[in-house]
Amino acid sequence: MEENNEKQLNFLEEIIERGLKEGTYKSILTRFPPEPNGYLHIGHAKSICLNFGLAKKYGGKTNLRFDDTNPVKEDTEYVESIQNDIRWLGFEWAGIHYASDYFEQLYEWAEVLIKKGKAYVDDQSLEEIRQNRGTVTSPGVNSPYRDRTVEENLDLFRRMRAGEFADGSRVLRAKIDMSHPNMMFRDPIMYRILKADHHRTGSKWCIYPMYDYAHGQSDSIENITHSICTLEFDIHRPLYDWFIEQLGIFPSHQYEFARLNIDYTVMSKRKLLQLVKEGYVSGWDDPRMPTICGFRRRGYTPESIRAFCERIGVAKRDNIISYSLLEFSLREHLNKVAQRRMAVLDPVKLVIDNYPEGKEELLRAVNNPENEADGTREVPFGRELWIEREDFMENPPKKYFRLSPGTEVRLRYAYFVTAQSVEKDADGNITCIHCTYDPATRGGDAPDGRKVKGTIHWVSARNAVDAEVRLFDRLFAVEDPNEAAEGKTFLDNLNPDSLRVLKNCKIEPCIVEDVKEGVVENGVAAPHRFQFERMGYFCTDPDSSAEHLVFNRSCTLKEVKWN
Ligand code: ATP
Ligand code: MG
Repeated sequence: MEENNEKQLNFLEEIIERGLKEGTYKSILTRFPPEPNGYLHIGHAKSICLNFGLAKKYGGKTNLRFDDTNPVKEDTEYVESIQNDIRWLGFEWAGIHYASDYFEQLYEWAEVLIKKGKAYVDDQSLEEIRQNRGTVTSPGVNSPYRDRTVEENLDLFRRMRAGEFADGSRVLRAKIDMSHPNMMFRDPIMYRILKADHHRTGSKWCIYPMYDYAHGQSDSIENITHSICTLEFDIHRPLYDWFIEQLGIFPSHQYEFARLNIDYTVMSKRKLLQLVKEGYVSGWDDPRMPTICGFRRRGYTPESIRAFCERIGVAKRDNIISYSLLEFSLREHLNKVAQRRMAVLDPVKLVIDNYPEGKEELLRAVNNPENEADGTREVPFGRELWIEREDFMENPPKKYFRLSPGTEVRLRYAYFVTAQSVEKDADGNITCIHCTYDPATRGGDAPDGRKVKGTIHWVSARNAVDAEVRLFDRLFAVEDPNEAAEGKTFLDNLNPDSLRVLKNCKIEPCIVEDVKEGVVENGVAAPHRFQFERMGYFCTDPDSSAEHLVFNRSCTLKEVKWN
């Protein structure tokens, strides 16, 4: 973790600075190229921070490009959510593009390659093509259709486009080398027939370009200088260069970095989609999901996610980052910006027997000790309060400094109280704690200088606002949920106790005003965030209404150690 200002350049910054110095390019243009087949996750956030961050640092620009070459899985819902999430993270794209806008150009270039004798129509089935590709240790076998004439190839390719052939009956392949040591060069498929409607081009096309043919050419069309992608694409890079070279178009270059993996989390869109579709979570934005909208609903701030991405840096080697580093980044930011409120999650009644019946006073509380400008507020206090059930013990062990019979503690911002007796129900559960208070300790200090060891929070019973609070644990119970035992799937690794709902929480009354108006953050609706003193950071959930407040716990105040 580099924290000083004299940061070492990462390998991408080194490459960019060298290129700028040598005049390879005057300014840089990066792109973020999501496929609109799901919601963005925290791995994408890393790629976003990197692409937009580098451009920003070097005075360049970043395009948003939807890599929408696979009509079957893509949808406008995803296109919109992706834009929302990027904006919310605090980034603005220079241009917004769609690979599908380039279909005509890509098609024309395919004809160029056919005319150069660099591409051919293959009638083999996909299965035959796969079998004839050979292996890493043995060469492939040429297709019997490999030596078709340019005329025949052009004719067949045009008829593929015209819809004359069935799905899967023919493909267009680049003609490179069936015994090339890099399997990517063994006549890669450029186009397939797929009679499916596309979310933007409708039924205009029935042939669609493959990733390797579409991606580099799209970069080139936009004059992208640095096409940054994850490590598994390094074996694709020579092919990326080959197409650009054959076509003699703008020389974009591809660079690879290690993808982000986080423990106790799955990050593949396919798996996330399955969690949503099969109802294991409430939606893409379930606060337990590693999606950007899930983190937003959980109470994460754009600043905390950007700080996290900055902290993990860019590497050339895959590794697994601890989820607690995300929470660390969140706490660090919320500690500075979240206003403090008092809320009792598991309430038990506390009655101050010597406090005048019917009396109510307003006590002054600090909104945020980290930021004086946030000022103070008044909190109503009375004879009957709610306190946290775990803040009282009838028979406390040693070193229990909270309330117990005969001990004196401080009620935050209020008075010293001493527990005297308890009332219980038929099952022996405490229903009410009786105590006495010392009127001289108003504000929380004793004039005679005597000290107490514990301070607990409280909410005035007469003024308390009821709320539901949702507490979250990790969605998965094991460090790498992708590793499933034989006959099991990642779903068997789900944590059955990842959600706990508390229905009877009590919050100080100002919360009603606090949450009245919606929050818009970087143009996107976001929750209200608070620190509930001693209990953690919390935020409003969209399930809230004026009559029924719902809060999510974003994280605890301190790191919780897992097993
Ligand atoms: P998934 O495997 O989850 O479906 P993907 O890579 O297919 O992800 P894309 O929409 O194609 O998803 O990704 C858009 C960009 O985000 C790509 O440049 C990709 O490299 C990057 N990206 C995706 N996942 C991660 C990750 N875990 N860490 C860093 N970058 C990622
Ligand atoms: Mg992808």
